[in-house]
Amino acid sequence: MSHWLPVLVHTPAHAALGPVLTYRSEQLLPAGTLVRVPLGKRETLGVVWDAATAEATGEFDPAKVRDIAGVLEGIPPLSRAWQQLLSFTAAYYQRSAGEVALAALPPQLRELNPEQMARRLKRKKLDGSAGGAVLAAPALSPEQAAAIAQIDANPGPYLLFGATGSGKTEVYLHCVHKLLAADPDAQALVMVPEINLTPQLEERFKARFAPLYGEQAVVSLHSGMTNPQRLKSWLSAHGGAARIVLGTRMAVFASLPKLRLIVVDEEHDPSYKSGEGARYSARDLAVYRGKLEGAKVILGSATPSLETWHHSRPAEEGGRYLRLHMPSRIGESSRLPLVRRVDMNHQPRRAIFSTPLIAAITERVTRGEQVMVFLNRRGYAPVLTCEDCGWKSECPHCSAFRVFHKIDRTLRCHHCGFTERVPRACPDCGNVDIAPFGRGTEQLEEHLAELLVDVRRHGSVTPDNPNGEPIRIARIDADSTKLKGQLEEQLAAVHAGDVDVLVGTQMIAKGHDFRRITLVAAVNPDGALFSSDFRAPERLFSLLMQAAGRAGRDASLGAQSEVWLQTFQPQHGLYAALKKHDYTTFAAQQLKEREQANMPPFSAQALVRAEAKTQEAAQAFLNAARTFAQTEMAAWDGWAEALAQVFLYPAVPMAIQRVANLERAQMLIECPSRATLQQFLTAWQSVLHATRSQPECKGLIRWAIDVDPLAI
Ligand code: ADP
Ligand code: ZN
Ligand code: ZN
Repeated sequence: MSHWLPVLVHTPAHAALGPVLTYRSEQLLPAGTLVRVPLGKRETLGVVWDAATAEATGEFDPAKVRDIAGVLEGIPPLSRAWQQLLSFTAAYYQRSAGEVALAALPPQLRELNPEQMARRLKRKKLDGSAGGAVLAAPALSPEQAAAIAQIDANPGPYLLFGATGSGKTEVYLHCVHKLLAADPDAQALVMVPEINLTPQLEERFKARFAPLYGEQAVVSLHSGMTNPQRLKSWLSAHGGAARIVLGTRMAVFASLPKLRLIVVDEEHDPSYKSGEGARYSARDLAVYRGKLEGAKVILGSATPSLETWHHSRPAEEGGRYLRLHMPSRIGESSRLPLVRRVDMNHQPRRAIFSTPLIAAITERVTRGEQVMVFLNRRGYAPVLTCEDCGWKSECPHCSAFRVFHKIDRTLRCHHCGFTERVPRACPDCGNVDIAPFGRGTEQLEEHLAELLVDVRRHGSVTPDNPNGEPIRIARIDADSTKLKGQLEEQLAAVHAGDVDVLVGTQMIAKGHDFRRITLVAAVNPDGALFSSDFRAPERLFSLLMQAAGRAGRDASLGAQSEVWLQTFQPQHGLYAALKKHDYTTFAAQQLKEREQANMPPFSAQALVRAEAKTQEAAQAFLNAARTFAQTEMAAWDGWAEALAQVFLYPAVPMAIQRVANLERAQMLIECPSRATLQQFLTAWQSVLHATRSQPECKGLIRWAIDVDPLAI
């Protein structure tokens, strides 16, 4: 007997046919089953999306329905909850369900045919026996114990608001431990923002849980893994053998049939937001998923996102998350670093390093301690200029300057990658005296070496070696870590004490536990105070707090660790709050400003971005869709009221207006109600599709909606 199966496939974007197509199967397959189906001339992976129907209903023509090509036997069906998570993601982020759901599955699942998959599944299973020394967990601190008691007593979601080093990870380990011990099937998902941080975390979880549940009980899922590795982890999570999945944002879509706990560590980190395809926030989806599947959700951070902070206000005021506070650092490292502001108004003009900072660096280094200096700009100088005619090293393909990289004497565009050798002379007037303007990490490293040229390494001046050794400066940024393994190598050198001063971008401030660093200096952090991006202060604060939290964890170093900020705005509220390590005051200031300006979390936003051959076409497209919403849509039955709440700003060029020869424009949409915004976007999709074919939009290449955008 034939069964008619509704199957979700990844149809080309906005194709006329919907993502759920009907196929015929002789076998009755339950919803969630993975199948291979013909699609046009190809064969592709699909997910049976609903119960099969026994009769041809008239909604499709049985004569035209094709047979499924095969079933991925041996893989249990995906759960209803998983389907619902993916349907929700697609609807909320305004993408097609087929695209989102199929992209959430491991690539090899899409590529392997049933025979290949069967072979893969047959391969010898890893030895799953537990064993080895069971690592004793440390006795909980009173703050940890209090937080855990709250987690036990309340449904959550929780915001674990704990200082760096307050033992948040230990709380996660404890909760996971309790869960796995109490329920032999239960699974936990633990997410971290960066791939770089997964090995560290994996080690900690494996050390704790492998002796109890076997090596295969802890698996990772992130984009740095090979496709076979990813498939293996995925299958083991889906089959239930993996009890703990550690991963980056993509792991939020892992199939975990017995999911009972989700941890989102460093929940404020922007990398939880996807920058392509469906622009989902894994943090927000984790909260949704927790509710859907009855799993507890712990969001952890020392500097929560203001959205999460706002959600964790007292329940009487409308808060939905439970805030758990762990203000103290564990053990000897409990002294928080001293934050100093250096008023750059009193320093020589154009000085990069203030005199007191150089003195402080010298002092630390000669004592055998390490120093971290950071600047948020890689390369040598952001721009090369000719002082005679005003030429600047613009990128010919983007509306941005190419950055001067002295090390290989190139000009590189950080947006499109266009790279050229530095010209001998000014391309416009022939002046040979073209000079770098501004500075990046590369120049900082060079300049610092000059300033510290007479400083000798700790203990290197001996009777045999009266001149001692010069100090060692290392740089870590996207340029110095391009090759695989380079970052690990450099970090190892820092940990081994082979480096005295570490110069870098924000990359070095995140996650790494540098125990011998006792001085952290931010050379020029002011930019974020005056950025057009309203989230810039929040990011700066969190970055500086994290950097401060990393410093001086080695209790044997008696010296008080310090964080130095060179600033022209020493009185700024952000720095004042930072000096007191006072996130709460900072958050209150920021939230007040946001409330007055009607910005998130006090309103919901979406951004439509358009790319076209000309700026006019990009803007015309957006503005036409806007006008339609304001006139025609407002006249639709029952829409006037909702549309009165939706504010569509006129289209504007994006901050970087042109990238790789494409003009880019954006339009911001704001609404006090998230639900109304959703309703509007869903209805407006078809308007955007229809607008595209209008004559003034000729040259439009693509457009995309970003719901809850992080960068505006
Ligand atoms: P966080 O995740 O908040 O930065 P961690 O959980 O990594 O903090 O803890 C910081 C350090 O303190 C780690 O070295 C950890 O092993 C240790 N630690 C955490 N909790 C305890 C405890 N209750 N007793 C002793 N040491 C602890
Ligand atoms: Zn010139
Ligand atoms: Zn470019």
